Parts: sequence; C-alpha cells; structure tokens
Amino acid sequence: MTVHGATWVQGAAGSQFPITNLPYGAFTVTSDERPRLGVAIGDHVLDLAAVLPDVAALAEPSLNAFMAMGRSAWAEVRARIIDLLCDTSEQATVEPHLVPIRSVQMHLPLEVADYVDFYSSEHHARNLGRILRPGQPELADNWKHLPIGYHGRAGTARVSGTPVVRPRGQRLSPSTSQPEHGPTRRLDIEAEVGWVVGVPSELGRPVPLHAFRDHVFGACLVNDWSARDLQSWEYVPLGPFLGKSFLTSVSPWIVPLAALDDAWLPPVERDTPLLAYLDDTGRRDGIDLTLEVRLNGTVVSRPPFAGMYWTAAQQLAHLTTNGASVRTGDLYASGTVSGPEPNQRGSLIELSWNGTAPIRLDDGSTRTFLEDGDEVIISATAPGPQGTTIGFGSVRGRVVAE
Ligand code: CA
Repeated sequence: MTVHGATWVQGAAGSQFPITNLPYGAFTVTSDERPRLGVAIGDHVLDLAAVLPDVAALAEPSLNAFMAMGRSAWAEVRARIIDLLCDTSEQATVEPHLVPIRSVQMHLPLEVADYVDFYSSEHHARNLGRILRPGQPELADNWKHLPIGYHGRAGTARVSGTPVVRPRGQRLSPSTSQPEHGPTRRLDIEAEVGWVVGVPSELGRPVPLHAFRDHVFGACLVNDWSARDLQSWEYVPLGPFLGKSFLTSVSPWIVPLAALDDAWLPPVERDTPLLAYLDDTGRRDGIDLTLEVRLNGTVVSRPPFAGMYWTAAQQLAHLTTNGASVRTGDLYASGTVSGPEPNQRGSLIELSWNGTAPIRLDDGSTRTFLEDGDEVIISATAPGPQGTTIGFGSVRGRVVAE
C-alpha cells in the first residue's frame, strides 16, 4: 500500500477527496474545449495532462486509454500524483494546474463499452419477491447459486446531472387491464455501485476471482432509473428492457481500487455452497461502503453495501464464465443496494412498499414514485487509510416532464 504523506493542497484533509482518494474524472472549464482528465483533491481538480505530459493516455478526453494500460501503470501514475501533491518543492509548478471544482463541468469519464446490471442484494431481491410475487418463494431457485444479471444499454449511460426525461411506453391501464401508451406513472430509482473494466479479457477465457484487480480499474455510483409500470408489463419472460434503458446515470468520479485498500471485507455469511468459480472463501472482495439517497434534499435511505450477497469479483467471474470477454470501458453495476432496515432500501418501490406506504419528505410532501421536478442525489463514502474518508462524489438527476 502506498504510504501517504500530507498534501500541501489546502482543504484536502478531512474532505471527501483527501490525498488517499484521488478519483479520476473528465472536466472542462469552458464549453468549447474538449474534456481533460483530472483527479479530485479537496475542492480542486488536478489537470493530469499538464503535470504528467509524458503519459500520452492522460491527454485523451476519456479514461479508456489510461485504463487499458493496466495495473502497474495505474499504480505508477497514482504514486507520481501523490508525490506531486505532497512534495512541497513541487507546489509552485503544480499549483497553477489545480482548477477549483466549482468552476468545472464534469463529463462521463469513460466511453462505456458494454453495460451489465446485476441483482445482488439479498434484501432487495427478497423485498421485490414479496412485493411482486406474494405467496411465492421470495428468492428464485437460482438466486443463491449465481449472480443474476442482464445486459443493458451502454449508449444511454450518461453523466450525473443529465435530465431524466419521463419515459413513455406500454403499460397496463388500471381500469381496463389493456395496454396503453403513455408516460410512466411509476418512475423509480435504483441506488447502485458500478465497476469499470480497464484491462480487457480474451474471448473464451473466463476471469477468475483472483484476477479481478487485474481487470477492474475502479468504482463509481450508478442510478438505474426504472419505469416500474413499463417494466412489469414487458419483463416476462426475458427480463428488463425499455423500463430501464431510457437512462442510466453515472457519477463523474471513478474511485480507483487502490483508494479502497482499507475498505475490503471478507465474504458475507452464505448458507448455500458455491460452485468453485464463485467460491470466495478466504478472499476479501466485499466492500465497506455506505450509500446515501436524497430526494429533494431529504435523506430517504442509507443503504449499506457491506451486506451485498455477491461481490464485484464474483459478478465478473460469472459474466465471463461462459467465455464472453470484457472490454475496456465495460461498466457493470451491483444491482439495487438495500439493507435489512426499512431506511436502508435503495429504491422507491421498496421504500413506499409498491406505492402503498408513501414516504414523507422534509417539506411535508409525500412520495410513492417520482414526480416531475424531483431531484435524486446518491452519494457514498468508504473508510480510507489513516482514518480518512473516501468519498465517491454523487450521481444526481432531476425529473422533467416528457
Ligand atoms: Ca438495477
């Protein structure tokens, strides 16, 4: 693990972006320039191409070329950034390349190649089972044997802040039980953690659990906006389609795995034996991360990621176990993160129990699903080295009428 000294950057210590974090993003200062890569430090962004001009990949407008360079290059660049930000003899040359975060526009930091979404919180899966299939087993027979997932739509993964245009589609009319076409009446969120692939895998070669950190570059936050009425009408028998694909919001900062060194956890207790390719006994692939969901400023949930049944390493092992390859820029998301308590649920369908128990916001209003004008902000923190807090920034979106 890198030993961290003190940084000369004022305000970094104690912020969500301390020297132990250094998440990567893509930013612009004026609207007519192409995005530049940077790391967040305190309330500034360090312009990477300006301070590390010998690393050509850092002059690209997205992280893909850098992420493809692999783990040793990631470690070397991270160590050089830490040196630049801690060595006071570098301050005079580096400081002009710190841009105040409040003055930048953030962009999607990667070109998303393929997008996969999992379903790996046992509490979420059980809640949805109880809501949607009352009287039947909460979990499907396969749930504890493999991480359930589906292939989604990479082209509609967009950066945090992208307006959420209320989607239209087919849904059942409550009065006639016939399909009709119109704007969703049950627009929901799903608070998730996303994993970004840096190094591709070969077709025909599954990625074993132990190779997770050779391929995955970092983590981000994802809001898998969901139209529940479209989803419930269309999903049998092939799963999510247009109820999900209209927009997936991604946080602008990718936290490198190296920043999470102090957050890894042993596996959760499982009561079902796993096949060898998923057996993570003795590994530490879980992660101690706490999400926070705000709706119009009110904290409506704090989902704990530590209790997720399936880890990111297991998800990658499973999605490649048939020989399918992953590419630089692949994004796969955890599935809705929900904990055991009512105030730890990561979706409104759970928080309002399918619309039957409206939640109250600080302004006195109530919600079941999202109304036009509503804003949702999901943030997260993990424990960092030396008592620091690793912040993920946030992923936000405001609903606008169709
Ligand atoms: Ca989802």
